[in-house]
Amino acid sequence: MRHLLLLLTISIILSGCLSWAWRGYKKPGPDDFESVSPLTNCMKIGTQNLNEKRKKAIKEATADVCKILASDEFKQRVLAQQWLVSCDLINGQPDVMTGQQVFDLINKKIPDYSVHPRHPWNAIAQTDPANDRVAIKPARIKNWNATDKKERANLINTIAHETMHILSGSFRDGGHGTTECPDARLVSYGIGNLVEELWLASHP
Ligand SMILES: [Zn+2]
Repeated sequence: MRHLLLLLTISIILSGCLSWAWRGYKKPGPDDFESVSPLTNCMKIGTQNLNEKRKKAIKEATADVCKILASDEFKQRVLAQQWLVSCDLINGQPDVMTGQQVFDLINKKIPDYSVHPRHPWNAIAQTDPANDRVAIKPARIKNWNATDKKERANLINTIAHETMHILSGSFRDGGHGTTECPDARLVSYGIGNLVEELWLASHP
């Protein structure tokens, strides 16, 4: 009984922490989605929770992310390796996808999603794929206004990373950063870092 109560308390606290990011979230209406890029595979962004300055930052950075995702260099790099979908083991084997499978998923239209400027508990950003929404720490959005390119690139990385979570609920990253599950092989971290790298290279 005592274990059950403890478990219940922990699960209430945990779900509280996870919903922390969505305080004050306004659901988008059909008119809240804005085009950010002329590229057809690019997602529209629900901007109903963003002030003008944040809206501008998110729209510009997302357009840049889409441009990299559609580039030939990106395609070559994605095709060149096998990817980890998650850090899980499936029947004792790593949860993998070929470069082609990952590329095909990214290359078809990315679902539209909305961005909420909130600092999620214990993270820079948090994605809720079931509701197509991403919470991003306001300070990370603000990075876009920096003069330092590395700082600006942080927002590029965050948007690319969270977009992978939106793209598929199976692209998860619990337990990442180990020898068995290095960031460079995992879709969310690997694509985020790759898009950042290519963005920096194209902004010398
Ligand atoms: Zn993640």
